[in-house]
Amino acid sequence: MGIELGMPHIGVQRPSDAGPGLIDSFGRKATDMRLSLTDKCNLRCTYCMPAEGLDWLQKSAVLSREEIVRLVRIGVDSLGVRELRLTGGEPLVRADLLQIIGDIRANHADLPISMTTNGLGLDKKAQALKDAGLSRINVSMDSLHPDTFAQLTRRPFLDRVLRGIEAAAEVGLGLVKINAVLMRGINDHEAPELLEWAVSKGFELRFIEQMPLDADHGWTRDGMITALEMRTLLEQQFVLTPDPRNRDAPPPSAGRYAESRPLTSSSAPWALSPR
Ligand code: SF4
Repeated sequence: MGIELGMPHIGVQRPSDAGPGLIDSFGRKATDMRLSLTDKCNLRCTYCMPAEGLDWLQKSAVLSREEIVRLVRIGVDSLGVRELRLTGGEPLVRADLLQIIGDIRANHADLPISMTTNGLGLDKKAQALKDAGLSRINVSMDSLHPDTFAQLTRRPFLDRVLRGIEAAAEVGLGLVKINAVLMRGINDHEAPELLEWAVSKGFELRFIEQMPLDADHGWTRDGMITALEMRTLLEQQFVLTPDPRNRDAPPPSAGRYAESRPLTSSSAPWALSPR
């Protein structure tokens, strides 16, 4: 079992003298490409967008299937991209998603392709996604309680998301990963429960700090649950062990944890999950 605390890596630059590839300001080579397939979504997470949704992009402003396939080809062939992540908005709402994945897979037989989704509709599409060539899936889910889920997403769809997660695991969409944002006073107390659930299911759990992306401008630094706080919350009930396999380890306040076990357990630690 692994968990990850902290913020996702953002931003790369390509200095003209850095040679091929995408090099960030610390000299690290970025090999992951992240492509947003749509700005649309069928949830309305309070930390992401207002209840009425956003002014959606014109179709002409959204990458076409052909453009996406071409961009990936350029990334893999010329920029050292070795892993692809498809995101949104919500990528499952894109009608040509299966064709996009199939086209990319046809060009890049060995490229790991993952997708971040809110899980709505995943139960019906998991097998087709796998067949099209998707390697892995990350599902964003912040609560295991219907009322809290509905409060956070403004939609009463927790059962549908859970069905989607189960379907992804059943069809073998890699090691299913769960992304969770903790909101102070709303679901932060659920951190240990989410971890216990993920461990029991054999999923990898990643807690993500809330970023100031909310269209309602409600984000405050004080309101954000930091990675250090997340770790403190979990350590009240679990023993966390830093992951020795993580070569790019963030500072100790954040970090990846390859192993977790209840403080009260006298049995062997839970099995590690492959990355
Ligand atoms: S956080 Fe993700 S699931 Fe929630 S509204 Fe934004 S895009 Fe949709």
